[in-house]
Amino acid sequence: MQKQKEMQKQKVSIAIHGGAGTISKANLSSEQEAEFRKTLKEALMIGHASLLANEDGALAVIKTVQHLENSPLFNAGVGAVYTYDETHELDASIMHGKDKNAGAVAGVKTIKSPIAAANLVMNESVHVMLSGEGAESFAFKHGLEKVSNKSFDTPHRLEALKKAKLAIQEDEQAFYQHPEHADYKFGTVGAVVLDAKGNLVAGTSTGGMTAKRYGRVGDSPIIGAGTFADNESCAVSGTGHGEYFIRFNVASDICARMKYQNISLEQAANDVVNKVLKGAGGTGGIIAVDKDGNISMPFNTEGMYRGSVDTEGNIYIGIYGDE
Ligand code: ASP
Repeated sequence: MQKQKEMQKQKVSIAIHGGAGTISKANLSSEQEAEFRKTLKEALMIGHASLLANEDGALAVIKTVQHLENSPLFNAGVGAVYTYDETHELDASIMHGKDKNAGAVAGVKTIKSPIAAANLVMNESVHVMLSGEGAESFAFKHGLEKVSNKSFDTPHRLEALKKAKLAIQEDEQAFYQHPEHADYKFGTVGAVVLDAKGNLVAGTSTGGMTAKRYGRVGDSPIIGAGTFADNESCAVSGTGHGEYFIRFNVASDICARMKYQNISLEQAANDVVNKVLKGAGGTGGIIAVDKDGNISMPFNTEGMYRGSVDTEGNIYIGIYGDE
């Protein structure tokens, strides 16, 4: 009874993202905008309901991310961007703040839900990250659904690849460095939660960057770069130019700053995204939740698909920079 009361008192919160980039009102029709807002809200509500039902934070993260993986709007699962060779190579990771257990898959091609595969690696293997064929055979041995690589195809991503290839042929260096090319990769998805037991969990799933070269691995499956969770500080999922997130260890840096500098989540997240990352020329954003359920979602791009439900139950959905 006492335990039940404590559980009811424990507040939950959740934040999600669907990618950061050159997202402006001029780039989205009102129908497209409505679709994005609808799908973000659905994902958010799935995760929040899971948290309210006292399910483990990892389950809430998986359910939320899977909803976004299944939507063609986002660069994860169906709707993943294309590699230079016109295939899809998917990356995902999950981390549990209670014991800092973590799992990741990189460069997988036929696993329907990469976030579920990352969770399997976390729970059922002695490893943290599996890549390529090894990750796939492990996932299928444990019963995950296999799909054809083509099932992730969408016409709009193919169109983006064609444009990207033309730009790369002109100047490859400029293509990867210029922030205006951020729209060739937006759509990565992620979720961070504080569950009813006080656990922080973070998960991220992506198709990576349009026209990425065979075997390129971004930040999303790298624990510390694109995903991090520690019950003593915060849970973070990132989206943006992965190479910078890896080099600046973005997700774990935010948690470390909170812990060692004794600063708020808001300050730590802003310092890393708007000072460190931006100062280095890295574009992107993050979503984070701390052990008290505070939420922070800074980004240094024009927009970031995002949403949250705070500990009071307030729902927020945002796309552009000024909302
Ligand atoms: N961070 C992802 C990557 O570099 C892409 C993105 O978030 O848009 O693979």
